[in-house]
Amino acid sequence: MKWEHTEEQSVFHLLFAYADDFLENHLNKVYCKYQYLLKWRAVTLELDPDMFLTAFLAKQDMKLGTRRADFSWGSSIKSNNTRLHAMLKQGMADNHFHLKGSAPTFQLSWISLMNDVSSRKLQEFNRAEERLAKDLDGDIDVTNSIAIAALLRLLLFERIHKIKLETEKDLYSILAEILSSEIKNEEERRQIIEFYAKDIQQIISIYQQRYDCQKLMDYALLSSVEQADLATEFYVGERNFLYQCFQAIYRKDSCLQGHEDLFYAYLVLKNRLRAEIIQANGRVGFSNFSKYQDRKGGYLRKKLKKCIESTAVLTTIKEQNIVSLEARIIPQYTKKENAKMLYKLDKAICHAVATDKDNYWNSSLVKSDSTDETSLKIARIIKDDKKINEMKQYKEKFFYVVHFPKKKDKLMGKIAKQKKQELFHLHLETQCRHQKNRKELKKCALAICQLRETNQSIARRIAGIDACSNELVARPEVYAQAFRCLKSHLPYEDRQSLWGKGASLENLRITYHVGEDFLDIVDGLRAIEEARLFLGMTHGDRFGHAIALGIDVKNWYREKNNKVYVSKQDILDNIAWLIHKLKQSDFEDRASTVAKLTMIYNKYYLEIYFPKESRQNLCGYCGGDSDPAIIPPDAYVKAWKLRGDDPELYQMGYREDNLGLTHWDRCAIRNRGEQPDKITCTLYQRYHYDYQVKIAGNEKDVFKIEPYMIPAIEAVQKDLQKEICACGIAIECNPSSNHLISNFKRYDKHPIINMYNLGLTVDPDKIESCPQLFVSINTDDQGVFDTLLENEYALMAIAMEKVKDENGKPIYKQAMIYDWLDKIRKMGIEQSFYSPRLP
Ligand SMILES: [Zn+2]
Repeated sequence: MKWEHTEEQSVFHLLFAYADDFLENHLNKVYCKYQYLLKWRAVTLELDPDMFLTAFLAKQDMKLGTRRADFSWGSSIKSNNTRLHAMLKQGMADNHFHLKGSAPTFQLSWISLMNDVSSRKLQEFNRAEERLAKDLDGDIDVTNSIAIAALLRLLLFERIHKIKLETEKDLYSILAEILSSEIKNEEERRQIIEFYAKDIQQIISIYQQRYDCQKLMDYALLSSVEQADLATEFYVGERNFLYQCFQAIYRKDSCLQGHEDLFYAYLVLKNRLRAEIIQANGRVGFSNFSKYQDRKGGYLRKKLKKCIESTAVLTTIKEQNIVSLEARIIPQYTKKENAKMLYKLDKAICHAVATDKDNYWNSSLVKSDSTDETSLKIARIIKDDKKINEMKQYKEKFFYVVHFPKKKDKLMGKIAKQKKQELFHLHLETQCRHQKNRKELKKCALAICQLRETNQSIARRIAGIDACSNELVARPEVYAQAFRCLKSHLPYEDRQSLWGKGASLENLRITYHVGEDFLDIVDGLRAIEEARLFLGMTHGDRFGHAIALGIDVKNWYREKNNKVYVSKQDILDNIAWLIHKLKQSDFEDRASTVAKLTMIYNKYYLEIYFPKESRQNLCGYCGGDSDPAIIPPDAYVKAWKLRGDDPELYQMGYREDNLGLTHWDRCAIRNRGEQPDKITCTLYQRYHYDYQVKIAGNEKDVFKIEPYMIPAIEAVQKDLQKEICACGIAIECNPSSNHLISNFKRYDKHPIINMYNLGLTVDPDKIESCPQLFVSINTDDQGVFDTLLENEYALMAIAMEKVKDENGKPIYKQAMIYDWLDKIRKMGIEQSFYSPRLP
C-alpha cells in the first residue's frame, strides 16, 4: 500500500507538527519547551528523538533558506529553561553513573548495524518471549528487520544523492524478493536475507570507501557535515541522512516522490529496534530493567565497544558542568587485571576528553589550541609539563567505584526444582548460603586490597565500593565481610607512616544499591538496615536508590492488592524485624500490633524451624502460644544480627579463638560489643546449615497485609528514616530510573519529596515531619533510560510545578522549587567520594 502524501495527511508532516509544538530553535541549538518537557520525555521514550529533531530542523531550515551542516546536538536535548541552566552551570555531581550503561548505546548500535549487517547476529532475540517491546508487533523477527533497514537505508541514500552503483543485483529487486508475498514464514525470509546479506554489505563497503570512512564510520557521514565533537561523531551522519530525507519529502523532490513509504518503513524499523534497547516497555521491576541493561553494547563489534566508556563520559560533559563524576565499573579478580583495566580506562577517557573539541572539562581547563591532539603519553615523551598537568586535572573530575554484581544462590535455586527424595544430593548442610558468591567476593576484595598495597597511584582511582544488580537474589549479608574488609583497609606502608606523614590512600567509601526493587516494603526497609549494620555504613557512605525509605506505604500495598508473594524465610525475618522495630518505637498501638504479629511469627517459626516431621517426635509438643519449642522474636532478631558474620565460624559451634589473623579474617565478625549466647549462635548456624530450615524457608507463600499492619509499617519507615539521617548516610536518587523501575507513575510522586523538603515548603509541620535526609539527584544508566543529569533536575522541576491542590492551584511556587533543587545540587557535590575543586 502506498502512503498517500498530501501536506495535511502525511505522517511526515505530522512528525514536524508534533515536533514544532515541543521544540524551539536557537541558532545551532534545539531546545525543548520547558512546559512540555514531561510530554517530550514520554514521547521520546517510545520514539527516537532524532526523528523529531531532524524533521523539525528540515522544515525550519527550508523556511529560513539555510542548509545545515551542524548535527552535533547532545544525545538528549535540554529544555529552554535558562534559569535552570544558570543554576546547574555552577556545577553538578553525578554520584550514581554506571559507566557502561551511560553511553548512547542505541545510537552507536544503529550506526554499527547500518554499516555492518553481519553484526545483527551478535545479539539475537527473535523468539517472542525474548522480545521486550511486544506491544509494537509481536511476531516480527528483529534480526531480519535490521537487514531490511540497512537495505532501505542504502536505497534511500542512493535516491537522495541521485547515485546508483552498477551491481549484479539491483537493490530494489533484492528488497522485492525479501518482501515477496510468497514467503510463508520468517524462517524462509531469514534464509533469503542470509543469501543477500553479502551483496548488501558489499554495496555498503563500496560507499564506505568512496566517502572515505575512517574508523568504522558511517558511509552516510559526508564531508559537508561538521564533526564538531567526539561525543556525536558516530551518528551525525545518520542525523544528516534523516534530515535530507525529510527535506526531500517536504520539498516534494522527485528523488523520493512515490518512495516515501520506504522512508516510513525505515523509521518504523529503527524505532522498533530502539524499543528493544531503550527501556520503554512500561513494565516495572528490576528484572525487566536488567534485560535492557544486558543488551547495551550487544550489537557493537570490538572496535566500537572500546569507545563505550569514553563516549559515555564525553556525552555527559558536553554542555554540562559536571564537577565530580563517579563512574561505576565491575572489578576484576586479580590485582594485575584491575590495574590494567583502570589504566586503560583512564587513558581512553583522558585522551578522548583532551582530543574532543566540545566538552566542559576541556574548554574550562585547556585554554590552548583546541585542535591539539597530544595524548598524555606523547606529552610525557616531549616533556610537555603543562599538558601533563592539564590531563591530570581531568582525573580530579572523575574516578571509579567498583561494583560487585549481586548473584543468585544457585544451590538454593535448585531446591524448588529438585524432587524431595533427591534433595540430599545438594549437600545443603555442608554449604552456607551463597557459598560460591562469598568465595568470589573474597577473591575480588583481596585483589583490590593488594592493589592498594602495591600500586597506590592507580589504586587511588578507586574511591568506593558498591554492589549492583538484582537485590532480590542476594541480601547485604553476603557482602558484609568483603565490604568491611575493603572499607577498613589501609595499606601497610600508610599505617606505618600514619602518625608521621599522614595516610597516602584514603579509606574506601561504601555505596550500596538497596531498597530499589522489593517484593514487600518491610523487606526493602529491612534490607536497608541490614546494609547499614552488616556493611558498617556510616557518615560519608551512601545508599543507591533506597526507594523503600520514602515510598508511600499505603499506595504501594494497594497497588499490590495488599498481598505479597515471598519466601517463608523472608516472611519470618520480616515479621521478627517488624516486631523488633515496633518495640523500639513509640507507635500508639504497639502492644496489640506486636501481639498480633507474634502469632504470625509463631506460625512461620514452627513451619520453618520445626517442620511437622520433627514436631511429631517432640515429646509434649503442644503448638500453642507458649510453645517451648519457639524461640521468641527478640532472641530470633539477635541471631538475625549475626548475619553479617562469616557463617563458617558458626558451622561447628561459635568460638572467638577460631578467628584468623589476616585482615580478611579479622573482618569475619561485626564489631557488636557483646558476645552472642549459645541459642543465638545455634539459630544462626541453623539458618545456614540446617537442611530442613533451608528447604522449608525456601517455599513461597502469599502473605496478606492486614489493615492494622499499614500504620505500623509507616511508623517503622519513619523511624528508620531518622536513624539513617542520624548516622549521616546519603541517598542517591535517580528520578528517571526509579520512575521506570519502581511502581510510582509520576515524577512528582518520587520518594525524594518525602525524604527532603527544605525549600519546598514553609509549613513548619511539614518541615518538622520530613526526615530531611541527605539526598542527591543522579542518572544511573543514562544510556538505557535515555536521559541526562540536567534533564533529571528539569523533569523534577517541571513535574513539581505542575502539582495542583484540590482547587486546581499549584502547590509549589517556582522559586521554591529552584531553591529546593539547588540545595539538592549542592548536597550532590558534598556527597562526592572525591572532594571536587569548585570554581
Ligand atoms: Zn544503579
